[in-house]
Amino acid sequence: MRYNRQTPAETGACLTHQSERETDMRDHKLKHLQNIGKKFNNLTVLDVIHGMLFSDKITRFYYICLCDCGNKKTIRADSVRLSSTRSCGCLWLNNHRNKTHGGSHGIGIMAEYKVWTSMKMRCSNPKFTGYKNYGGRGISFCERWKLFENFIADMGRRPSDQHSIDRIDNDGNYEPSNCRWATRQIQNNNTRRQKT
Ligand SMILES: [Zn+2]
Repeated sequence: MRYNRQTPAETGACLTHQSERETDMRDHKLKHLQNIGKKFNNLTVLDVIHGMLFSDKITRFYYICLCDCGNKKTIRADSVRLSSTRSCGCLWLNNHRNKTHGGSHGIGIMAEYKVWTSMKMRCSNPKFTGYKNYGGRGISFCERWKLFENFIADMGRRPSDQHSIDRIDNDGNYEPSNCRWATRQIQNNNTRRQKT
């Protein structure tokens, strides 16, 4: 009786309807638990979490994954199962490292990776220098940018080493609509404009 309609597994979605019965949820969870130890692309599932992580508004299933590179990362279960996320982000990095022009050996992309890492730290790690001006006053980064591959897809390559990530609205969050690469000069002009 419970399976007259399409189950979430069939649709590939992990979201459950408001009316979803407890028993369905249990079956669903069991299905996820069976993936522990299984490998999806570069990711091996270590554990399953059901909850509201990151800035989610609904509860979802997540997998704590061990990437082939040794990184541990919590990733949405459906992203892992449907191969929309295939590694902790290192796979993307490696693919592009080999393709960077002029034989720059990935130095370029490492710069963007550092920008991304320190952005996350500024917003979420109280021990990080500058936290009080970012996370400390409510500045955060969007769910999508939890993954480096999304961040770099949205922002593109940094135009030069004079550029850093700039929030157009200084009180806004780190998200595609509010960010750009800008030189110190542009950022200063922008700050002045906002003050006057
Ligand atoms: Zn990795």
